[in-house]
Amino acid sequence: MIEKNLKRLLEEIPQSVRLVAVTKTRLPEDVMEAYNYGHRVFGENKAQELIKKAPLLPDDIHWHFIGHLQTNKVKYLAPFVKMIESIDSLKLLKEVNKQARKYKRVIDCLLQFHIAKEQTKYGLSLEEADEILTSDVYSEMENVNIRGVMGMATFTDDENVVRNEFRDLSMIFKKLKDRYFSDKHDFNEISMGMSGDYKIAIEEGSTIVRIGTKIFGERE
Ligand SMILES: *Cc1c(COP(=O)(O)O)cnc(C)c1O
Repeated sequence: MIEKNLKRLLEEIPQSVRLVAVTKTRLPEDVMEAYNYGHRVFGENKAQELIKKAPLLPDDIHWHFIGHLQTNKVKYLAPFVKMIESIDSLKLLKEVNKQARKYKRVIDCLLQFHIAKEQTKYGLSLEEADEILTSDVYSEMENVNIRGVMGMATFTDDENVVRNEFRDLSMIFKKLKDRYFSDKHDFNEISMGMSGDYKIAIEEGSTIVRIGTKIFGERE
């Protein structure tokens, strides 16, 4: 079933959009079914779970970390994580830079924005991102590479609400690109869209979709 779901999704989404297969709560054997089909990009939203799961799986997997990350957990992810999509403070970015340096790595990062109505979701405002990107500390960081933005829309059936939030995130991406990254060709990622809303996200300019349920089935 996993293979079939994955195949269908990969046929459906445009070539220009990358799929992060979200494996939270899934067993290693489920992940392996997608891996054996040829998929290599996977996402987890809890540090503890990723720390336990990654060693049980092949090491050519590109792990994207997509959940709220506490600074004290960064050291465990720094040796192997491919991208941290959920940078939501300067403090976190500093810690990622520090730990990445220890392993002589440069870790790809996305700035997470709070675009939803729900208070519970994490993420920066545009003003906070401006503060980070104009700070002296940021200008000296050599072990993080900011590749773009990430956001989660409100959990609602109202398509217009979702579409407007994705549109906001695309706008934020364009503003940051103009202000800080106009010469940086690899500042080119907008991570938005999950099982319920990825079609709208793609229409609004998503380059990375993060999908779990549609591949692996409903979570317990
Ligand atoms: C769980 C999760 C997803 C995937 O959600 P599905 O609805 O299962 O596709 C995407 N992004 C984040 C940040 C998540 O935590």
